[in-house]
Amino acid sequence: MLKALGLSILCFSILMPFSIVGQVQQVKNLPDTDEINSKIRAEGMEHSHIMHTMHYLTDVYGPRLTGSPNLKAAGEWAIKEMTSWGFENGHLEPWNFGHVGWTNEYLTAHIISPVKTAVEVRALAWSPSTNGAVRAESYNMILPERPTQDEFTAYLNSVAAKVKGRVVFVGKYVDVKINLNPSPRRQDDNAVKQRYNPDNPNAGQGGFGGNRRGQQQAPDPTKLTARQMGEQVDAFLLANGAAVRVMDTVETLATVDHGQIRAFNNRTYDPNKIVPTVVMRHEDYGRIVRILADGTPVTMEFNIVNHIYPEGTTVYNTIAEIPGTDKKDEVVMLGGHLDSWHSSTGATDNAIGCAVMMEAARILKAIGVKPRRTIRVALWSGEEEGLLGSKAYVAQHFGTAENPKPEFFKFDGYFNIDDGTGRARGASVFGPPEAASIVRAAFAPFEDLGLEGALPTNSRRSGGTDSTSFNEAGLPGIGMNQDPIEYNQYTWHTSLDSYEHIIEDDVKKSAVEIAAAVYQLAMRDEMLPRFSKDQMPAPTPPPGQQQRPGATTARPAADRSRR
Ligand SMILES: [Zn+2]
Repeated sequence: MLKALGLSILCFSILMPFSIVGQVQQVKNLPDTDEINSKIRAEGMEHSHIMHTMHYLTDVYGPRLTGSPNLKAAGEWAIKEMTSWGFENGHLEPWNFGHVGWTNEYLTAHIISPVKTAVEVRALAWSPSTNGAVRAESYNMILPERPTQDEFTAYLNSVAAKVKGRVVFVGKYVDVKINLNPSPRRQDDNAVKQRYNPDNPNAGQGGFGGNRRGQQQAPDPTKLTARQMGEQVDAFLLANGAAVRVMDTVETLATVDHGQIRAFNNRTYDPNKIVPTVVMRHEDYGRIVRILADGTPVTMEFNIVNHIYPEGTTVYNTIAEIPGTDKKDEVVMLGGHLDSWHSSTGATDNAIGCAVMMEAARILKAIGVKPRRTIRVALWSGEEEGLLGSKAYVAQHFGTAENPKPEFFKFDGYFNIDDGTGRARGASVFGPPEAASIVRAAFAPFEDLGLEGALPTNSRRSGGTDSTSFNEAGLPGIGMNQDPIEYNQYTWHTSLDSYEHIIEDDVKKSAVEIAAAVYQLAMRDEMLPRFSKDQMPAPTPPPGQQQRPGATTARPAADRSRR
């Protein structure tokens, strides 16, 4: 899920819009709502399948990198599972990723001298293998800060002879201070209540705070950007025969206090364009470059086996349905992305989102309700590379408000969850305030579980997570807001993102709440209200290319503004 942007959407909805105040809609749920809701609670809290689903999606099929056989196998398993629950029309829908699939199969990393020890690393996705075990001296390449092209070229020329055949540690040591004030794992109840209170003129403020990336430096056209430097370093190491490149994980992490590693991808997705590359635990990186700085040679040994899958250029979204009855040609969707990064098994990002949404639909099937509209579960792929799977699906099925396909007019709403294991606390709903009021009414019976409401957003900016692919098209995307738990600090995209970091009680509650809301939407006489043609905000151009200062390797488009 895209972090800062998710927040900005929330704030945007508060600052820009239709004043929420005075527009509180008294929306009533269906007459049998209380009875259905208690059945949903009982099924979800007492007969949950979430942890069973999690075990398969993480332990058995993780990690699920886009284009990898694991991701496809996870989708096939999910279809089998949902079919066994009575869902219909389970299938994989292809879209063109355009890059080969990649997995790391084997990886060892050791200091051979002046000490002998293993070190902790992950392969950079879409990087090449070593040619068997490679043993070599190390070199720490300390890049100049914000150089001009001439300065950078001169620097690279000055170190060209030093990288040949070496293990190159790119980047100076960064001193990451121990965090003495870790942020709370739960959102404050009162703050959440205020944020989702439609009578509060400041609703939506507080909670997740602002753009955490801080101020972007104004670009100086005479200086190279971090991205430009990164591209040149990639080409330089390849041209000058470096044996292995080592990155410090602090390039992609603000906190390192659990020894976690966060590895993304080779910016080109082409293993022929870079040398074998690993991302190293900060503590190991620090130890080695400090020894090098003493003038003591450090010999390393790496053995990396990565596998390329040409068939990975075609990637699949995973779809299954509970068919509707009298309004079965209209559809309520719910889902999350099934693809993950590869440093662990992708539990909080986002096997759990898939497991929660599969479970929400399973609960409805299990209690035997007959939804009027079709309920469709979608498990996306390519989210981490830029929301690619959900964008492809929306384009194939719905088009946009400006250029709609027939299915555009039969689509009710799409619930998305993608912010870790924390229980759901509220939602943002793309559309006029009346749409958020309907979702708020559906959520209201679950305040005791911590769910506080829904707010409208009118932002069509895509980014962060898959609900925004629907918003972008002008369709009602419904994005869930959750308690952070360890997500931002520890598990998101890191080597800690495993089954052990799921809180079963929280995720059961989220599934119950979403099942109830999906049911209400599937049963109402009318679909969610939408913006009229006149009210529809203009489509938002994709955000500009932004780079964190100091970043030397590509971060995925979907990541740059993450919450
Ligand atoms: Zn995610």
